[in-house]
Amino acid sequence: MAWIARWRRWALVAAAAALACGDATEDEEVALGRQAAREIEAQLPVLDDPVVTAYVDSLGQAIARRTARADLAWRFAVVNTSVVNAFALPGGFIYVNRGLLERADRMSELAGVLAHEVEHVVRRHSVEQMQKAQRTQTGVSLVCSLTNACEGAGARIGIQVAGSLLFARFGRDAEREADAGAFVNVRRAGVDPRGMRTFFEELAAEERAAGGDGGPVGAWFADHPGTADRIAEIERMLAAVPADELASYQANDAGFRIVRARLASLPPAPPAPARP
Ligand SMILES: [Zn+2]
Repeated sequence: MAWIARWRRWALVAAAAALACGDATEDEEVALGRQAAREIEAQLPVLDDPVVTAYVDSLGQAIARRTARADLAWRFAVVNTSVVNAFALPGGFIYVNRGLLERADRMSELAGVLAHEVEHVVRRHSVEQMQKAQRTQTGVSLVCSLTNACEGAGARIGIQVAGSLLFARFGRDAEREADAGAFVNVRRAGVDPRGMRTFFEELAAEERAAGGDGGPVGAWFADHPGTADRIAEIERMLAAVPADELASYQANDAGFRIVRARLASLPPAPPAPARP
Protein backbone atom coordinates (compact mmCIF):
# COMPACT_ATOMS: atom_id res chain seq x y z
CA MET A 1 0.00 0.00 0.00
CA ALA A 2 2.78 2.40 -0.98
CA TRP A 3 0.29 4.88 -2.39
CA ILE A 4 -1.33 5.26 1.02
CA ALA A 5 2.04 6.06 2.59
CA ARG A 6 2.70 8.52 -0.24
CA TRP A 7 -0.72 10.07 0.14
CA ARG A 8 -0.24 10.41 3.89
CA ARG A 9 3.14 12.01 3.37
CA TRP A 10 1.74 14.54 0.95
CA ALA A 11 -1.20 15.22 3.25
CA LEU A 12 1.26 15.99 6.02
CA VAL A 13 3.36 18.21 3.77
CA ALA A 14 0.18 20.09 2.87
CA ALA A 15 -0.78 20.32 6.53
CA ALA A 16 2.68 21.60 7.45
CA ALA A 17 2.44 24.23 4.71
CA ALA A 18 -1.00 25.26 5.90
CA LEU A 19 0.31 25.54 9.45
CA ALA A 20 3.17 27.75 8.31
CA CYS A 21 0.60 30.00 6.61
CA GLY A 22 -1.41 30.17 9.81
CA ASP A 23 -4.69 28.58 8.72
CA ALA A 24 -4.46 25.01 9.93
CA THR A 25 -7.75 23.18 10.17
CA GLU A 26 -8.41 20.92 13.14
CA ASP A 27 -7.79 17.86 10.94
CA GLU A 28 -4.40 19.24 9.94
CA GLU A 29 -3.54 20.07 13.52
CA VAL A 30 -4.45 16.55 14.64
CA ALA A 31 -2.50 14.94 11.76
CA LEU A 32 0.64 16.86 12.69
CA GLY A 33 0.21 16.15 16.39
CA ARG A 34 -0.28 12.45 15.72
CA GLN A 35 2.82 12.27 13.54
CA ALA A 36 4.86 14.21 16.11
CA ALA A 37 3.58 11.84 18.83
CA ARG A 38 4.74 8.86 16.76
CA GLU A 39 8.19 10.41 16.30
CA ILE A 40 8.50 11.34 19.96
CA GLU A 41 7.37 7.93 21.18
CA ALA A 42 9.98 6.31 18.94
CA GLN A 43 12.62 8.24 20.89
CA LEU A 44 11.31 8.85 24.38
CA PRO A 45 10.81 5.91 26.76
CA VAL A 46 7.04 5.80 27.19
CA LEU A 47 6.12 4.02 30.44
CA ASP A 48 4.47 0.73 29.57
CA ASP A 49 2.44 0.17 32.71
CA PRO A 50 -1.31 -0.33 32.24
CA VAL A 51 -2.30 0.77 35.76
CA VAL A 52 -0.34 4.03 35.72
CA THR A 53 -1.22 4.89 32.12
CA ALA A 54 -4.92 4.12 32.56
CA TYR A 55 -5.14 6.34 35.64
CA VAL A 56 -3.33 9.30 34.06
CA ASP A 57 -5.39 8.94 30.88
CA SER A 58 -8.71 8.75 32.72
CA LEU A 59 -7.88 11.78 34.89
CA GLY A 60 -6.75 13.68 31.79
CA GLN A 61 -9.90 12.69 29.88
CA ALA A 62 -12.13 13.80 32.77
CA ILE A 63 -10.55 17.25 32.48
CA ALA A 64 -10.23 17.52 28.69
CA ARG A 65 -13.81 16.33 28.04
CA ARG A 66 -15.12 19.39 29.87
CA THR A 67 -13.24 21.93 27.76
CA ALA A 68 -14.20 23.76 24.55
CA ARG A 69 -12.27 21.11 22.59
CA ALA A 70 -13.91 18.08 24.16
CA ASP A 71 -14.25 16.49 20.72
CA LEU A 72 -10.51 16.00 20.17
CA ALA A 73 -9.19 12.44 20.49
CA TRP A 74 -7.25 13.33 23.65
CA ARG A 75 -4.50 10.96 24.74
CA PHE A 76 -2.36 11.06 27.86
CA ALA A 77 0.89 9.14 28.27
CA VAL A 78 3.68 8.90 30.85
CA VAL A 79 7.34 9.25 29.86
CA ASN A 80 9.62 7.04 31.92
CA THR A 81 12.18 9.66 32.93
CA SER A 82 13.08 11.21 36.27
CA VAL A 83 13.14 14.66 34.66
CA VAL A 84 10.22 16.68 36.05
CA ASN A 85 8.24 17.97 33.09
CA ALA A 86 5.09 17.74 30.99
CA PHE A 87 4.28 18.85 27.46
CA ALA A 88 1.49 19.05 24.92
CA LEU A 89 1.47 18.33 21.19
CA PRO A 90 -1.06 19.86 18.80
CA GLY A 91 -4.28 17.88 18.53
CA GLY A 92 -4.47 16.71 22.16
CA PHE A 93 -1.44 14.47 22.77
CA ILE A 94 -0.27 15.16 26.33
CA TYR A 95 2.84 13.74 27.98
CA VAL A 96 3.71 13.81 31.66
CA ASN A 97 7.06 12.60 32.93
CA ARG A 98 7.34 9.99 35.68
CA GLY A 99 9.53 12.40 37.69
CA LEU A 100 6.56 14.75 37.91
CA LEU A 101 4.12 11.97 38.85
CA GLU A 102 6.47 10.89 41.64
CA ARG A 103 6.51 14.39 43.12
CA ALA A 104 2.76 14.91 43.14
CA ASP A 105 1.39 14.22 46.64
CA ARG A 106 -2.24 13.94 45.60
CA MET A 107 -4.54 13.67 42.61
CA SER A 108 -5.32 17.41 42.53
CA GLU A 109 -1.64 18.26 42.01
CA LEU A 110 -1.35 15.97 38.99
CA ALA A 111 -4.72 17.23 37.73
CA GLY A 112 -3.46 20.82 37.82
CA VAL A 113 -0.53 19.92 35.56
CA LEU A 114 -2.71 17.94 33.13
CA ALA A 115 -5.26 20.78 33.03
CA HIS A 116 -2.48 23.26 32.25
CA GLU A 117 -1.19 21.18 29.32
CA VAL A 118 -4.76 20.60 28.11
CA GLU A 119 -5.29 24.37 28.03
CA HIS A 120 -2.21 24.83 25.83
CA VAL A 121 -3.99 22.61 23.28
CA VAL A 122 -7.42 24.21 23.82
CA ARG A 123 -5.92 27.63 23.08
CA ARG A 124 -3.92 26.23 20.18
CA HIS A 125 -0.63 27.40 21.71
CA SER A 126 0.96 24.15 20.52
CA VAL A 127 0.01 24.82 16.91
CA GLU A 128 1.24 28.40 17.13
CA GLN A 129 4.51 27.13 18.55
CA MET A 130 4.88 24.78 15.59
CA GLN A 131 4.13 27.61 13.19
CA LYS A 132 6.88 29.70 14.78
CA ALA A 133 9.25 26.76 14.60
CA GLN A 134 8.59 26.38 10.90
CA ARG A 135 9.74 29.94 10.26
CA THR A 136 13.14 29.20 11.80
CA GLN A 137 16.02 26.92 10.93
CA THR A 138 14.92 24.47 13.63
CA GLY A 139 11.60 24.42 11.88
CA VAL A 140 13.20 22.96 8.79
CA SER A 141 14.29 19.82 10.60
CA LEU A 142 11.00 19.77 12.44
CA VAL A 143 9.08 19.69 9.18
CA CYS A 144 11.46 16.99 7.94
CA SER A 145 10.71 14.73 10.84
CA LEU A 146 7.01 15.48 10.89
CA THR A 147 6.53 14.73 7.24
CA ASN A 148 9.24 12.14 6.55
CA ALA A 149 10.11 14.50 3.69
CA CYS A 150 13.75 13.95 4.53
CA GLU A 151 15.33 11.10 6.43
CA GLY A 152 18.40 10.84 8.63
CA ALA A 153 20.09 12.08 11.75
CA GLY A 154 19.32 15.76 11.21
CA ALA A 155 15.60 15.17 11.20
CA ARG A 156 15.77 12.99 14.30
CA ILE A 157 17.77 15.59 16.22
CA GLY A 158 15.18 18.12 15.08
CA ILE A 159 12.34 16.25 16.67
CA GLN A 160 14.36 15.66 19.83
CA VAL A 161 14.86 19.39 20.18
CA ALA A 162 11.20 19.89 19.35
CA GLY A 163 10.04 17.42 21.96
CA SER A 164 11.91 19.06 24.75
CA LEU A 165 11.91 22.69 23.70
CA LEU A 166 9.55 23.76 20.97
CA PHE A 167 6.45 22.01 22.20
CA ALA A 168 7.12 22.61 25.85
CA ARG A 169 8.34 26.19 25.88
CA PHE A 170 5.74 28.86 25.62
CA GLY A 171 5.98 32.54 26.49
CA ARG A 172 4.88 34.02 29.77
CA ASP A 173 1.55 35.15 28.35
CA ALA A 174 0.77 31.64 27.13
CA GLU A 175 1.75 30.22 30.53
CA ARG A 176 -0.53 32.68 32.30
CA GLU A 177 -3.40 31.79 29.94
CA ALA A 178 -2.77 28.07 30.47
CA ASP A 179 -2.86 28.54 34.26
CA ALA A 180 -6.08 30.55 34.11
CA GLY A 181 -7.64 27.88 31.88
CA ALA A 182 -6.32 25.08 34.09
CA PHE A 183 -7.94 26.71 37.10
CA VAL A 184 -11.32 26.56 35.33
CA ASN A 185 -10.66 23.08 33.89
CA VAL A 186 -9.91 21.38 37.22
CA ARG A 187 -12.96 22.94 38.89
CA ARG A 188 -15.23 21.78 36.07
CA ALA A 189 -13.92 18.27 36.73
CA GLY A 190 -14.72 18.69 40.44
CA VAL A 191 -11.04 18.75 41.42
CA ASP A 192 -9.54 20.98 44.13
CA PRO A 193 -7.72 23.89 42.42
CA ARG A 194 -5.51 24.33 45.50
CA GLY A 195 -3.45 21.42 44.11
CA MET A 196 -2.09 23.85 41.51
CA ARG A 197 -0.68 26.07 44.26
CA THR A 198 0.73 23.36 46.51
CA PHE A 199 2.44 21.53 43.65
CA PHE A 200 3.94 24.73 42.30
CA GLU A 201 5.25 25.65 45.75
CA GLU A 202 6.72 22.18 46.27
CA LEU A 203 8.56 22.28 42.94
CA ALA A 204 9.78 25.83 43.59
CA ALA A 205 11.12 24.76 47.02
CA GLU A 206 12.94 21.81 45.45
CA GLU A 207 14.43 24.06 42.77
CA ARG A 208 15.67 26.53 45.41
CA ALA A 209 17.16 23.73 47.50
CA ALA A 210 18.95 22.22 44.48
CA GLY A 211 20.59 25.51 43.44
CA GLY A 212 22.51 25.71 40.14
CA ASP A 213 20.37 24.42 37.27
CA GLY A 214 17.54 23.51 39.63
CA GLY A 215 18.30 19.76 39.70
CA PRO A 216 15.63 17.36 38.38
CA VAL A 217 12.93 20.06 38.48
CA GLY A 218 15.07 22.56 36.54
CA ALA A 219 13.52 21.44 33.22
CA TRP A 220 10.02 22.24 34.46
CA PHE A 221 10.93 25.81 35.35
CA ALA A 222 12.92 26.34 32.15
CA ASP A 223 9.90 25.26 30.09
CA HIS A 224 7.28 27.05 32.20
CA PRO A 225 8.62 30.55 32.87
CA GLY A 226 7.45 33.21 35.34
CA THR A 227 7.16 31.07 38.51
CA ALA A 228 6.73 33.80 41.14
CA ASP A 229 4.13 35.70 39.08
CA ARG A 230 2.25 32.50 38.34
CA ILE A 231 2.04 31.47 42.01
CA ALA A 232 0.78 34.98 42.87
CA GLU A 233 -1.85 34.76 40.13
CA ILE A 234 -3.04 31.34 41.35
CA GLU A 235 -3.30 32.81 44.88
CA ARG A 236 -5.44 35.62 43.48
CA MET A 237 -7.74 33.16 41.65
CA LEU A 238 -8.04 30.99 44.78
CA ALA A 239 -8.96 34.02 46.91
CA ALA A 240 -11.95 34.63 44.62
CA VAL A 241 -13.44 31.16 45.21
CA PRO A 242 -15.89 30.93 48.15
CA ALA A 243 -14.61 28.77 51.02
CA ASP A 244 -17.59 26.37 50.96
CA GLU A 245 -17.06 25.83 47.24
CA LEU A 246 -13.34 25.13 47.77
CA ALA A 247 -14.24 22.62 50.47
CA SER A 248 -16.54 20.76 48.07
CA TYR A 249 -13.79 19.81 45.60
CA GLN A 250 -11.97 16.47 45.56
CA ALA A 251 -8.24 16.57 46.38
CA ASN A 252 -7.27 12.90 46.22
CA ASP A 253 -8.56 9.45 45.32
CA ALA A 254 -7.71 5.79 45.80
CA GLY A 255 -6.46 5.46 42.21
CA PHE A 256 -3.77 8.06 42.78
CA ARG A 257 -2.47 6.23 45.86
CA ILE A 258 -2.35 2.99 43.89
CA VAL A 259 -0.39 4.74 41.11
CA ARG A 260 2.14 6.09 43.61
CA ALA A 261 2.62 2.65 45.17
CA ARG A 262 2.89 1.09 41.72
CA LEU A 263 5.58 3.57 40.62
CA ALA A 264 7.54 2.87 43.80
CA SER A 265 7.49 -0.85 42.97
CA LEU A 266 8.78 -0.43 39.39
CA PRO A 267 12.48 -0.29 38.49
CA PRO A 268 13.68 3.35 38.60
CA ALA A 269 13.40 5.48 35.47
CA PRO A 270 16.41 5.35 33.14
CA PRO A 271 18.88 8.21 33.73
CA ALA A 272 17.84 11.48 32.11
CA PRO A 273 19.48 12.39 28.81
CA ALA A 274 21.41 15.68 28.68
CA ARG A 275 19.22 18.62 27.78
CA PRO A 276 19.94 19.99 24.29
ZN1 LIG B 1 2.85 25.59 30.01
